[in-house]
Amino acid sequence: MTENNLDVFCPYPFMSASLESFDRSLPCCAYSPDVNPSPVHEFDQWWNHGLGKLRNDMLTGVKNSGCRRCWDEEAQGKTSQRKLALDSYPEHRNIKQALESPAFFMIGIGTHCNLKCIFCNPWRSSSIAQEYESKKDSFNKFGIVYQGYPQGADWDQESKALDTIKKHIVHARDIQFVGGEPLLKPVYLDLLDEIKNPENVRLSVNTSLERLSDRWIETLSRFQSSVHASIEAVGPLNDYIRHGSRWENVEANFEKLKQAGINVKISHVLSRTSFWTLPGIVKFMRRMRINEIHFHYLTHPESLRTAGATDEERKKFAELRFSGMLGKPHPDEIKQQIQSESYDADIDAKFWQYIDFLDNTRGLDFRKLLDDYQT
Ligand code: SF4
Repeated sequence: MTENNLDVFCPYPFMSASLESFDRSLPCCAYSPDVNPSPVHEFDQWWNHGLGKLRNDMLTGVKNSGCRRCWDEEAQGKTSQRKLALDSYPEHRNIKQALESPAFFMIGIGTHCNLKCIFCNPWRSSSIAQEYESKKDSFNKFGIVYQGYPQGADWDQESKALDTIKKHIVHARDIQFVGGEPLLKPVYLDLLDEIKNPENVRLSVNTSLERLSDRWIETLSRFQSSVHASIEAVGPLNDYIRHGSRWENVEANFEKLKQAGINVKISHVLSRTSFWTLPGIVKFMRRMRINEIHFHYLTHPESLRTAGATDEERKKFAELRFSGMLGKPHPDEIKQQIQSESYDADIDAKFWQYIDFLDNTRGLDFRKLLDDYQT
């Protein structure tokens, strides 16, 4: 039997499903479909028939256009989702036929979230949608226009969708819950209650860790769990960047997970603010004995991209030591990436304009917080 061409092949379309918060089924969260994607209640039809072309492209070495984010990232020397998938599932590198049910489920149900992170949008956070609705004129005047974001019921309200996922999830070996904010939605716990062999299932939850109930701790304890805590800063800068969050709650919840023996990793969106906040995060990780940090490259909004960082900020970043720390991409790859990038004065200016807009809209003062943090 011929081997799959690992320069193009990706196992996800054969063994993974990403059920997106705004009711669509995709093979992974990086995939950009050229046609309207299937809603979750049509999952069976999509899994059995809708992925035919993509799977065939994978097997015949054709670069499917829906995977352009992976091709672009690989062209820039970055670690793409595809490469992560090949690393994470070596047993599926040579898969030719789709599994009957996905072994890996990534699930985001709706956009319910109590936070308004500065890099987020109404497609991910109901709180940002509310803020936008109530201050639409000032957002639009600044040039931020959102259209077509979800405002209806979440897809779990469609009983067929939920029943279908309950039917499939019992076969999963790997489950990841993503936002909105999973810890705020009891339906995730109901889905997990369906699983009869939790000790054999890897469960990861992406969360701001702002709220954490005892039922969640008990459920996480039954699975091979890891909590991916989305941390962009510690202290008051956390409260600014992940607006609506209180660092004291987050820190207390870290302690609870530690006491329960649940594995915690840091998930960090690499943005302009990272240049100031990563030293504090690394210090916090060492104190909490956390040694994994996973970086996500920010693409939107443009104003927050790392290209706006000054040469001085880059110099300080180069001095940051991640010794003994793990991550995908590895922190050393992140450092190389930052060093290979050139300063973009236009993006730098846009960053400060965006910060001024946020400060005016939310009644905050980023510059003062930054001064306090740095002194
Ligand atoms: S190649 Fe990338 S976008 Fe395509 S299915 Fe794999 S991870 Fe997703």
